[in-house]
Amino acid sequence: MRKLLFGLLLILTSAASAQKISNNKKAIIQSIEKHNAELIAISDSVWALAETAFNEKQSSVILADYAEKNGFSVERGVSGMPTAFIATYGSGKPVISILGEFDALPGISQKAQPTKEALNEGAAGHGCGHNLFGTASLGAAVAVKELIEAGKIKGTIKFFGTPAEEKYFGKVWMVRDGLWDDVDVNLSWHPADNTEADAQSTLALVDFKVEYFGQAAHASADPWNGRSASDALELYTTGINYYREHIKPTVRIHYHIQDGGQVVNVVPDYSKLWVRVRDTKRSGVIPVYERVQKMAEGAAVMANVDYKITLISGIYEVLVNRSGEEIMQKNLEYLGDITYTEEEQAFGKKIQENTQKPQIGMDSKISPLKETKEHPGGGSTDVGDVSWNVPNINLSVTVAPKDTPWHSWAVVACGGMSIGHKGMTYAAKALSMTAVDLFEDQKLIEKIKNEYKERKGDEVYEANIPPGPPPVGDNYE
Ligand SMILES: [Zn+2]
Repeated sequence: MRKLLFGLLLILTSAASAQKISNNKKAIIQSIEKHNAELIAISDSVWALAETAFNEKQSSVILADYAEKNGFSVERGVSGMPTAFIATYGSGKPVISILGEFDALPGISQKAQPTKEALNEGAAGHGCGHNLFGTASLGAAVAVKELIEAGKIKGTIKFFGTPAEEKYFGKVWMVRDGLWDDVDVNLSWHPADNTEADAQSTLALVDFKVEYFGQAAHASADPWNGRSASDALELYTTGINYYREHIKPTVRIHYHIQDGGQVVNVVPDYSKLWVRVRDTKRSGVIPVYERVQKMAEGAAVMANVDYKITLISGIYEVLVNRSGEEIMQKNLEYLGDITYTEEEQAFGKKIQENTQKPQIGMDSKISPLKETKEHPGGGSTDVGDVSWNVPNINLSVTVAPKDTPWHSWAVVACGGMSIGHKGMTYAAKALSMTAVDLFEDQKLIEKIKNEYKERKGDEVYEANIPPGPPPVGDNYE
């Protein structure tokens, strides 16, 4: 039985690779391969810099300069964010855009090796693979540009350099400014432990800050003169934790205590926490958000302190577009699985051993397009907000071994060596091939747009951020 299955698999695989592709697609694959060494160098520079949300100054310059060097016109510092930029090439319709991210996560610096050891002690690391994300997307945009330049396809290609995905969600300010208004279809991808045309949504969320203001006093000599901001904080989080019993299984609530007082012998007069509520739909997030705001007030009443709630930002769930994913899927079937050397598999298995996972190495097997789940699990992304303003096609590509703990040193390790590089090259090919399909066939764009309109229905998008400029410079810390 096993043998039979294996044989069947071989037939299927060779059938996939025998799929015919257009000369434009052949050219675009060659272009990615031609630029591959440069792309790896860019990715490795961004990886080593590991700059966090809104601090991605050098990373942003490296990417924007590369776009400019390749003939794109680059607008830097868009939507009040010095590290956000748009690179554009070509003119007229269709307008296709590709998203790139490049921010790192604090505290998870790591060398490109399978055992845990910081590259720079205490520094940030690319634990979500955004060094690969930004570089692959830009590589894809450059390859598309070469086809436009050669007169093989007509229209406009845009690369969006989008900062601060890991904190604050920079894309929301760009969406609020209407930066995707002239775009027909947007493409995006994300580093992952598997490879698929990603037909799943993500979770919507709201981030807000709660602060309590009390009265300081000596903790022993005159505590009756004190009104404790940390009492309020504890009562608040206790309320949230009781509330968990009564939320829907799709809801998530997290909090991070940012200030709980300074010393043990003072009744704290100030406390602060960052709260996040999520659900699979924005409509589900809103009632939970309202409820936990009331709880913040209730805790303030109990501790006899004042309180303040400040919205930080909120994001939508991704609006899936299966018509777009079907196009992506065909290109993945053509490209096939990523192949790894024995050394790479050994590296992957060592990572799995060191993170207590089964030692099975990398998984980049192309499966048929999955059903779209009504209530997906997983995380959230500000790609969601883009997807409610322009049809979006999403992709996941393997850049780390199966089941690697995400946002961890293990992802940082893989993103700085060939396992990550291979995923990046693959993503660049899949994105640019899918873009070529769209440039070559207006009917595909129409089909994607029709599905987008149908799924969006009469829901009116509203950017869930406070008025005014983005919190560049960590104003919310
Ligand atoms: Zn990410």
